[in-house]
Amino acid sequence: MSTDFTFKLLMLGDASVGKTSLTHRYITGVFIDSPRLTIGVDFFSKKVRLPNGKKVKLQIWDFGGEGRFRFLLPTYSKGSNAALFLYDITSEKSLESIGAWLEIVRKNAGNIPIFLVGSKSDLEPYRKVSAEYAQEVADRNSCICHIELSSKTGENVEESFKLITELLIEESNRLFKEFLEMQESKEP
Ligand code: GDP
Ligand code: MG
Repeated sequence: MSTDFTFKLLMLGDASVGKTSLTHRYITGVFIDSPRLTIGVDFFSKKVRLPNGKKVKLQIWDFGGEGRFRFLLPTYSKGSNAALFLYDITSEKSLESIGAWLEIVRKNAGNIPIFLVGSKSDLEPYRKVSAEYAQEVADRNSCICHIELSSKTGENVEESFKLITELLIEESNRLFKEFLEMQESKEP
């Protein structure tokens, strides 16, 4: 099937925040309890059809969160259309490294939309990061929005990717329009 849009999404964040679980949940609809450690980076892709009939291919690059894999990030960031920065709502520490990650991404991928994603929302009784605080962090780091979800229960997973896809299509249409206007203004 031919596609109308292809978007490359990066999954970023510290080890164990749930990047592989989220990728797996979205791609297959199933939660795996103990995914194996991601070595370097894994690739997945999913094709979705929008209500208007347009076909979108999402390429998901699931990054190994361990520091020793971070050297791969500059190269793999190139050409990506968006990034999801995941933190675990039960760990304040998992939100601390956001600045360092985003700096590398923005340097190599330009000013792409970044989604701040609080994972493991099913662990509400153990929550350490309030939604309000996370929203502040999102604003401070110029993230396009803040979302919370659970790969375990599936809560908000489909909805989040739908939102991300819609925003990317808007962005892509906007850039295309700008490009056309630029072409027109060049014509004598
Ligand atoms: P990664 O290192 O960021 O890829 O994290 P993983 O996807 O490997 O997940 C790390 C651990 O968190 C695993 O034991 C998962 O089962 C668990 N986990 C991931 N997502 C959720 C979730 O939504 N809820 C709960 N309760 N546990 C989760
Ligand atoms: Mg992983």
